[in-house]
Amino acid sequence: MMQENKILKQPGAYVLLIELDKIYTGSVGSLGEISLAAGHYLYFGSARGPGGLASRLKRHVRSDKKIHWHVDHITLAGKVVGILPVVDGRECNLCDLGRKMANLSVPVPGFGSSDCKSCPAHFLAVHGGGVEVLEALAVEIKEEIYPAASFLPTTAAQPSTV
Ligand SMILES: [Zn+2]
Repeated sequence: MMQENKILKQPGAYVLLIELDKIYTGSVGSLGEISLAAGHYLYFGSARGPGGLASRLKRHVRSDKKIHWHVDHITLAGKVVGILPVVDGRECNLCDLGRKMANLSVPVPGFGSSDCKSCPAHFLAVHGGGVEVLEALAVEIKEEIYPAASFLPTTAAQPSTV
């Protein structure tokens, strides 16, 4: 896993599987007030800055971040349960694949796609299955799913007992 995380220093795209255990209602930036049913959602993003995929994914799983992107509202209200990183990938291509899957739909037009002129949103609702849908996408593109925990900051070392 260490070796794999090193590979993820590269830029690319990713899919987050997010679980909401209860309904979410709140104001999400330019989208205004939105409401999402409890369940699973996929978010499609990209990381092209320094630190690549690994640093972006670490931010997504953190619970103490300042809200910057639309999806931050949802990762804070719910939790990231699976991550599909794609080195050199494009989030729009991944989102297109997702939209072709029968059990996914666009819950909030424009969510996560302010900078995109081709996708209706970079955020899809999953109707039935959660991890299974992410797995199907992973198989389709021949990439591996990572548990969210693999991007959590390492906990401080325990002092040894004297
Ligand atoms: Zn797009």
